[in-house]
Amino acid sequence: MSENIDTPAAAPALTGKERLFQKVSTYRVSKDAKEAGIYPFFREIISEMDTEVVLKGGHRVLMLGSNSYLGLTNHPEVKQASQAAVEKYGSGCAGSRFLNGTLDIHEDLEAELAEFVGKQAAILFSTGFQVNLGVISAMTGRHDHVLLDKLDHASIVDGARLSSAKVHRFSHNDMADLEKVLKSLPAEDGKLIVVDGVFSMEGDIARMPEIMDLADRYSAAVMVDDAHALGVLGRDGRGTADHFGLTDRMDFIMATFSKSLASLGGFVASDQDTIEYIKHHARALIFSASMPPASAAAAQAALRIIKREPERIERLWRNTKMMREGLQAIGYNTGLSETPVIPVYIGEVMNLALMNKRLEEEGVFVNPVVPPAVPPTDCLVRISLMATHTRAQIEFGLEKMEKVGRELGVV
Ligand code: PMP
Repeated sequence: MSENIDTPAAAPALTGKERLFQKVSTYRVSKDAKEAGIYPFFREIISEMDTEVVLKGGHRVLMLGSNSYLGLTNHPEVKQASQAAVEKYGSGCAGSRFLNGTLDIHEDLEAELAEFVGKQAAILFSTGFQVNLGVISAMTGRHDHVLLDKLDHASIVDGARLSSAKVHRFSHNDMADLEKVLKSLPAEDGKLIVVDGVFSMEGDIARMPEIMDLADRYSAAVMVDDAHALGVLGRDGRGTADHFGLTDRMDFIMATFSKSLASLGGFVASDQDTIEYIKHHARALIFSASMPPASAAAAQAALRIIKREPERIERLWRNTKMMREGLQAIGYNTGLSETPVIPVYIGEVMNLALMNKRLEEEGVFVNPVVPPAVPPTDCLVRISLMATHTRAQIEFGLEKMEKVGRELGVV
């Protein structure tokens, strides 16, 4: 007998296109979770975005997963400004800021934001993600180094990857590790340290005074991502640099409009010349359409309310304290959180999915955070507070967190 007879026929080689789509045909995770009725993402909301929302099917839930920290997404003045901008300018700019897409409200908003965060100038991008892509890749190149906290937001990581600079990650908020990295780099090379001001999942604050001191000692520039700090930290919500009295020493302050500013878009603020350079080098700005007028007008209206009503920030912090202390009293581990972003560590992904499902049934919307955003045994429920949550709503949320947590044996 020929040797080949019992040898199984080799599987036919995949074509190039089949190889590309192989991952698609084998991907099951989301489908399995849907079949098990515990899929927690892309939930459809059919109501206004407020402290309570209505899910598709009519179920009303308490919103404990919004980033609208000051509760302005459904504010009549913000909505009105947005509507008026559509009336005046139309629905979109049909072009980049660089060419035909610059409106007077874009420029006005830039001036107001620069003044608010205490810098000479600012430039808007269409999203916060694009700010990080555009600024980091425009400012750093082949002979430079970008230094990132290990828990920095994905958009910062992607911005660093996009640049041809060498990327270094230091342990979360670990100043000894940051110094070790800085020390290892050639003194004459360009260096940019980028950190979240408030870390988006953990809710702790960057150790900015020490970061600035190290940056000065080793001649590095510093950029802070204030997505979760604008409207939250600092005088009247001016952000992390203001909170620590470091505005003048901070090289770049970026933030998004998709949190406290109740809109969509982002900006970076710095000195006049640096903004001028970014305006002519950030590809995510130059080759992408500008922010629609309605979004710019909404952010502008929100900013004016923030300045006029600082008591919103006080309410946000009062609510934060009540929720964090309440969760801790139940027995939950809220990690390092010191801001309105409160992680509640649950453990394994299955527990988290069940917890999320039960909380929704009980009338509470939270955000489940799963790998790869966190290690597989450190899954968490991310709770975020709004200034407009009432005491009764927070009590309701805590009562349900306790009920469901005990039911599932996670507290
Ligand atoms: N930075 C941080 C820290 C964020 O949390 C986010 C958004 N979740 C972004 C940047 C991106 O902002 P945007 O939503 O405007 O794209």
